[in-house]
Amino acid sequence: MTDILKGNVVASQIKEQMKRDIEELARSNKVPTLAIVRLGNNPGDISYEKSIIKNCDNIGIKSKVFERDINIKTEELVELIGELNDDNSISGILVFRPLPKHIDEEVVRNTVSPLKDVDCMHPLNLEKIFEGNMEGFAPCTPKSAMEILKFYEVPLEGKNVVVVNRSMVVGKPLTMMLLEKNATVTICHSRTKNLSEITKNADVVVVALGRAKFFDESYFTEGSIIIDVGVSLDENGKLSGDVDYEKVSPIVSKVTPVPGGVGSVTTSILLSQVVLACKNM
Ligand code: NAP
Repeated sequence: MTDILKGNVVASQIKEQMKRDIEELARSNKVPTLAIVRLGNNPGDISYEKSIIKNCDNIGIKSKVFERDINIKTEELVELIGELNDDNSISGILVFRPLPKHIDEEVVRNTVSPLKDVDCMHPLNLEKIFEGNMEGFAPCTPKSAMEILKFYEVPLEGKNVVVVNRSMVVGKPLTMMLLEKNATVTICHSRTKNLSEITKNADVVVVALGRAKFFDESYFTEGSIIIDVGVSLDENGKLSGDVDYEKVSPIVSKVTPVPGGVGSVTTSILLSQVVLACKNM
């Protein structure tokens, strides 16, 4: 029987801990507060924003949205972030990405205070991850994948883990987190040859291509444990992971569903980092 690694129970556990932390902070009159910086009205951003605000309200985190025109200049955005950095009522800052092409993302990443960088965009926070220090802010998606593996007690020490993604938001930081757990990690990408031979030999496979149903049963074995990070629309416009779930889920050991897997933990990770930022203030 395949185990379906659902994200909601993982998220609930994180929320329970958060509630305790928020109560503790309230005793010293501290309220964790998230500033969301959104440029323009992209429907994906707005739906993500709504979900964040709802989650914040439910748990006792304040949220404030700073909506700016999509044509804002880099200097104006830097000025806004500077004000949020200096505002003692703000614990964490989330700048929605991808930013419009005319914005200098490098400048923006360096402007967010590393102490309020709950989405881990500042190079100093990423550097900590690459040094093996997992105590600070982490990129939310790879951290969600790690929390799922921890919750379901998937052993990592000495195991072969294949990560199919080499981006800075998913594959590279995730590799560092897996190394810290003493996994033997292989990173694959679009130039990798014989991908299915590599994934079939792994104990755990993390896929994050963003191509609906790309991975069919030929990539896995009955022992495969799969974390599906990919989110995209399939040929019928339905939300899908990278794994062809219908074909793959009956024949492997464990798999995360999409929706309901990694994505359902990501917001809880983000909010837990707002609480952490508030604790550190
Ligand atoms: P990305 O920068 O486009 O990265 C995609 C990666 O897949 C790249 O490393 C690319 O290789 C690799 N790839 C593409 N085609 C391949 C192929 N045929 N064989 C092997 N590797 C291939 O995307 P991203 O920002 O990392 O996001 C990846 C996915 O995660 C997306 O579906 C996104 O929606 C999802 N995501 C989910 C969450 C969540 O909370 N669940 C959060 C963020 C992102 P190259 O480097 O060679 O191009």
